[in-house]
Amino acid sequence: MNEIVNVEEIFGKNVFTLGKMKERLPENIYNEVLSIMETGGEMTLATADVVAGAMKDWAVENGATHYTHWFQPLTGVTAEKHDAFITNPDSEGKMILKFSGKELIKGEPDASSFPSGGLRATFEARGYTAWDCTSPAFLKEDAAGIILCIPTAFCSYTGEALDKKTPLLKSMEVINEQALRILRLFGDNKSTKVSASVGAEQEYFLVDKENFLKRADLMYAGRTLFGAPAPKGQEMDDHYFGTIRERVGGFMQDLNVELWKLGVTAKTQHNEAAPAQHELAPIFDVANIAVDRNQIVMETMKRVAGRHGMACLLHEKPYKGVNGSGKHNNWSLCTDTGVNLLEPGHTPNQNIQFLFILACVMKAVDTHADLLRQSASDVGNDHRLGSNEAPPAIISIFLGEQLEDVVSQLVETGEAKTCNETVVLETGVSTLPIFEKDTSDRNRTSPFAFTGNKFEFRMVGSSDSIASANTILNTIVAEAFCEAADYLEKTENFDMAVHDLIKEYMSKHQRIIFNGNGYSAEWVKEAERRGLPNISTMVEAVETLVTPKSIALFEKFHIFSEAELHSRAEILYETYSKTINIEALTMMEMAARQIIPAVTRYSKTLADTVIAVKEAGADASAQAEILNDVSKYLREAKDAIDHLAKVRDEAVKMSSKEQAFYYKNEVVTAMEALRTPIDKLEMIVDKEVWPIPSYGDLMFEI
Ligand code: ADP
Ligand code: MG
Repeated sequence: MNEIVNVEEIFGKNVFTLGKMKERLPENIYNEVLSIMETGGEMTLATADVVAGAMKDWAVENGATHYTHWFQPLTGVTAEKHDAFITNPDSEGKMILKFSGKELIKGEPDASSFPSGGLRATFEARGYTAWDCTSPAFLKEDAAGIILCIPTAFCSYTGEALDKKTPLLKSMEVINEQALRILRLFGDNKSTKVSASVGAEQEYFLVDKENFLKRADLMYAGRTLFGAPAPKGQEMDDHYFGTIRERVGGFMQDLNVELWKLGVTAKTQHNEAAPAQHELAPIFDVANIAVDRNQIVMETMKRVAGRHGMACLLHEKPYKGVNGSGKHNNWSLCTDTGVNLLEPGHTPNQNIQFLFILACVMKAVDTHADLLRQSASDVGNDHRLGSNEAPPAIISIFLGEQLEDVVSQLVETGEAKTCNETVVLETGVSTLPIFEKDTSDRNRTSPFAFTGNKFEFRMVGSSDSIASANTILNTIVAEAFCEAADYLEKTENFDMAVHDLIKEYMSKHQRIIFNGNGYSAEWVKEAERRGLPNISTMVEAVETLVTPKSIALFEKFHIFSEAELHSRAEILYETYSKTINIEALTMMEMAARQIIPAVTRYSKTLADTVIAVKEAGADASAQAEILNDVSKYLREAKDAIDHLAKVRDEAVKMSSKEQAFYYKNEVVTAMEALRTPIDKLEMIVDKEVWPIPSYGDLMFEI
């Protein structure tokens, strides 16, 4: 039996919450910190000293020995360097633990080994981490002991951002500023802050640790590079929402407890479509906190899986032939007075402010569909987006019947007189309740769907940070707000002007709305006719960061400088090339040193059998046929390895964009050509002889 968990007691136990700050800080200091968290401003060193002292006392009381500035460099994973709280012992040898305000506010890690895309020469390798006081510090418990983690931003000596958090925080300030302008125009003088709220649903796979360790591809690449399909995949639809297996249930329980202690509101869990695939969703939070917590969720999943003799795969496509994993990034705008600006109400056709905001989102997404697509691209996601899997690579917005109808009326006549009433769902069984049907989406094929009172951006990859997606969303919508506000603030007749803008934006950008099946081949053609971008791979998406349109957008709102954008593009090209290079090397290693030797031995067994059977005077034609097939695929595999080795040798001589494209076009193709004969061999070679666990073993043995 599982232990009884008292959620109220453990929730936030490992977080230095506002409540704990209030308890431990003098009132004036607490108020000062609160005010900086809410409206910004600089903290004096004296105040920081007091906060640091209280934070350290709390951490040490709870067993912490070290602190770390926890940050999110452009590697995509989090980084930490632990420092003990110890100081020089006094003359009698006694140790006093210390943590100063200076240490809290600023760190100076040697940044030379983090990607900078040419922004920083190695000789000026210093980088700075700066405390993000709006995201609470927390204690991480693992084999290294208990570490106080302080969420920080990371930048270079010359001030350029080297992380995913700095631009996100900037974009949050920008959307706040521009949304407030809009609210003031609509007569809201009470709200003082608008925040982007984000809820990230996280998909993942679990695999038995022993099987995991037998597969070099899972260890080095996080995905399988070979593997014939198992006899059963997801075709029976029996895994989605299926009963959770004992071992997985034990993992989920443990994971929830760890996350709750860290203040993560883990709320929903279920089995996903593919065998051994699952999902966890927390309750939404302010964007930067949601980003941090999503990182915590991913790290904790990996750690807890290990305790249960499993490995957690966050790769977008661990297995060919079954669903990959993504993240649904739910996004909305909420005021500090508790209003969600994306709430349409019962009669959205009369809700002018909502319609206006909707029109701005349509304009933003249509204008910058390429950037939004880019924000969700990573190497693993190339196997999902645009590759016959959800969601498509083409950005479109799904609004649902009711809103689509309102938009059509506005576009056609400038007025939306009616709005489809909510429909009551009746089952016809008198003992079952009657309720209103959701008017918004259940169209799962849309990459960007309006779901009641939020937009759900479904393109982000499962292993990716959600920082980029939200930075882009905030920035592009802020731009639309800003352009509208520039105009509206100068008009005499506000009502008329808003009315005109709604019609104008919706008419101009109606092409971005698509309510049909996003997976269909017809949509690809239709989207092309509408002129919507269809960017099918990560390397092709990189370019969108450095178009004149993007540079102008980011510079206008001070999110990125042109140099930062070029550096990010450079890092993305590099990351792509390095990742594919690792995959190619892993394939060659597995094929040449594990699979081919095993198959060669097997072919000798077959040959011996053929001779023996013939000598015994029996018909050996079946054995001979198998031997022929084995030899044929072995030949193909050997040729494919040689070819892969050759193109990889070419690839490593190149650099940057040219190299990334070469990896995509030549190396990836050569990898696929190697996979084909090996997967065929797996289907005909004795299972006892095959040197690595099969898809069936990986997906069903947990
Ligand atoms: P689905 O039907 O897509 O599986 P879930 O209810 O599992 O939806 O998850 C929806 C996610 O959206 C949750 O993380 C939830 O907290 C989040 N969410 C709900 N309302 C908002 C909102 N207004 N803004 C941002 N996120 C929200
Ligand atoms: Mg969802």
